[in-house]
Amino acid sequence: MTPEAECIFCKIVAGDVPSTSVYRDDSVMAFEDAQPVAPTHILVVPTSHVGYLSELEGSSEKLLGHMVLVAEKIAAERGVRENGYRLVINQGRDAGQMVDHLHLHLIGGRRLGALG
Ligand code: 5GP
Ligand code: ZN
Repeated sequence: MTPEAECIFCKIVAGDVPSTSVYRDDSVMAFEDAQPVAPTHILVVPTSHVGYLSELEGSSEKLLGHMVLVAEKIAAERGVRENGYRLVINQGRDAGQMVDHLHLHLIGGRRLGALG
């Protein structure tokens, strides 16, 4: 089986697993995290399967930049831009990456603790 066929976020992108979608275009989709750690907790993912940040090369700068700017726009729509928010990519085991489909966490809506 290909990684895509087993991937929960690919299934969400395909509409085979339900999610609360907040944004979609040709290259990225954003949806509410199922287990939010803050009042705003949204995941921005590529619509094509990418397992890890470490798989990407220079040609992916546009995609990564787009993911960040989409998250920034959603932050504004959610009203967290003014007070601030956090964007996080967990890469690999030590960071606690649980879903092997690249995703950017947008977290905000409360005072966030220190990193680490
Ligand atoms: P990671 O630790 O890999 O950076 O974070 C994965 C995130 O995906 C977690 O915050 C988790 O709550 C979220 N998540 C895992 N499975 C699902 C799912 O099926 N639907 C949604 N909406 N979020 C999920
Ligand atoms: Zn995937």
